[in-house]
Amino acid sequence: MLKGIAGKTAVVTGAAGGIGTEVCRRLLAEGANVVAVDLDEGALLKLAGDGDAALLPVAADVTDAEDTDRFFAAALDRFGSVDMFHANAGVEGDVAPVAELDIAMVDRVFAVNVRSAFLGVGAAVRLMSAQPGRGRILVTASIAGLKGDAGVSAYVASKHAVIGMVRSLTKEIGPLGIRVNVLAPGVVETRMMDSLEAGIGVLGGVTAGDVKAALNAAVPLGRYARPEEIAATAAWLLSDEVPYMHGEVVTVGGGLWP
Ligand code: NAD
Repeated sequence: MLKGIAGKTAVVTGAAGGIGTEVCRRLLAEGANVVAVDLDEGALLKLAGDGDAALLPVAADVTDAEDTDRFFAAALDRFGSVDMFHANAGVEGDVAPVAELDIAMVDRVFAVNVRSAFLGVGAAVRLMSAQPGRGRILVTASIAGLKGDAGVSAYVASKHAVIGMVRSLTKEIGPLGIRVNVLAPGVVETRMMDSLEAGIGVLGGVTAGDVKAALNAAVPLGRYARPEEIAATAAWLLSDEVPYMHGEVVTVGGGLWP
């Protein structure tokens, strides 16, 4: 068992997605109470299917300030504190060159990937700084937050942006006794990669399968991550096992980075 998780409360966004679901499952297995937040109510209900009293599903839009206040209030109401916050919701947007992309799509990607991180992390810091036990925050960026690739500039820029936000936040909240880190996965077997493989394939005139094969080959470990492998690192960063990790960008890429 990881230190500092059992009996504590975590709020996880993007909780019904590939990575978020496994983060919720891992935190529950470690004995946490988990508030699972996602826009996709049907998928949330599936996650909550076995009726675990330690899991509270909340359907909410993380880009909305009132929804953000509502899911933190629900966490406090049900469990009494928020000790861990994982800002994990994200969208990939469309694959297109900068010169051809739809600016409304860029706004949407920035709303979900950046605005939501400011809203969620801001609320978490206000709440945690008033708690005796303070707290730990994790923001999911990506190896795409450290480098660029053709056709995915909106996503890449949004992930660079959240890393920048965390680098400032690190200086602000370390003195308050709140830790924050960035989780930066490489390629992970989820819906998001299926969508990106299809889009990158169209851009390059190859099949989605060709894109996937090329990405597998680019990873020194030779394969995509399974979501539970990313969740293992997330739980570790949210735990008290690593009390001196603060402001770190932790890549989990099977060797894809650098
Ligand atoms: P996913 O599409 O399976 O999950 C994303 C979840 O976010 C979905 O359940 C979706 O409903 C939710 N969501 C989207 N917009 C929302 C909103 N406005 N409000 C609330 N919830 C919303 O994708 P995933 O791979 O699990 O991605 C999780 C995170 O990991 C994302 O931030 C993503 O950018 C990041 N990431 C993924 C990969 C990968 O290869 N899959 C790699 C690096 C980083």
